Amino acid sequence: AKEAGRATYQFFTPELNRRASDRMWTENNLRRALANNELELHFQPQFSLDGRRLIGAEALVRWRQPDGTLIMPGQFIPVAEDTGLILPLGDWVLGEACRRAAELLRHQDLMIAINLSAVQVRRPGLAERVAGWLSAYGIPPSALELEVTESVLMDDSDVVSETFSQLREMGVPLAIDDFGTGYSSLAYLKRFRVDKLKIDRSFVSGLRAGNPDSGAIAEAIIGMARSLRMQTLAEGVETEEQYHCLATMGCDQCQGYLLGRPMPYEDFLAFVRRDAGT
Ligand code: C2E
Ligand code: CA
Ligand code: CA
Ligand code: CA
Repeated sequence: AKEAGRATYQFFTPELNRRASDRMWTENNLRRALANNELELHFQPQFSLDGRRLIGAEALVRWRQPDGTLIMPGQFIPVAEDTGLILPLGDWVLGEACRRAAELLRHQDLMIAINLSAVQVRRPGLAERVAGWLSAYGIPPSALELEVTESVLMDDSDVVSETFSQLREMGVPLAIDDFGTGYSSLAYLKRFRVDKLKIDRSFVSGLRAGNPDSGAIAEAIIGMARSLRMQTLAEGVETEEQYHCLATMGCDQCQGYLLGRPMPYEDFLAFVRRDAGT
């Protein structure tokens, strides 16, 4: 037993150490990254399912190291959430997304989706921050869409309901990200106006033509959304087969590697200009 214990110890420790030091490194450097403007937003195009019209993009944050390497959000967003750095980071994302939206709107009528962390929504004043950025860049509230996960809407704090009713009054659309992967209670759908459900990639990846079981959950979400007058967007669409299944089920929109990967702003601008013919 002693031998086995030692073996386990040796097996796990390097991995745990590596993770702990990664975290420490991230924490120490993220503050500098914000100050030095090392963050950038990439844009993943979103399309209507019938007609494949470009309708907008999801803004996804990346961290560009001084040596050019790109760090993905999965590596630093959780650390930012734990340390509170998500507040300045999230505010930077909002401002930068609005700045980019203002330029994109000169070429085409598009909508830019922004991810919000629970920490940002639970902190009073989010709606005012959004209003401030909208007016700073002169863009309409309908040019944005704010994405939150189900857990945020399960929060019954006054701050959260107040923020969502302010955003609603302002006319900023709200989408639920990774829909179907979080809480099982749907009661929040009655408390908050939700404009769109984003069907999680896990319900899209298995879709097979001629196999109705493979689409049972996606189809149920689309049906529920329709009866509650919400739109649906399927995430992670990678194949024509998945696209075809979703179109058959009446899903409204999609994004995924099939039609476009997240790309730097300049590339997305070129994409939009080509699409708009400007
Ligand atoms: P998410 O919001 O669910 O974003 C979708 C993720 O799926 C993105 O990963 C995107 O690059 C990836 N993806 C898109 N299409 C496909 C596909 O066809 N196949 C596959 N396998 N993946 C696809 P990314 O950019 O690494 O972002 C990961 C997560 O980090 C996001 O998940 C979101 O939760 C978070 N995140 C990203 N940007 C922000 C931000 O500005 N603020 C906050 N709070 N979170 C962010
Ligand atoms: Ca998202
Ligand atoms: Ca998602
Ligand atoms: Ca996610």
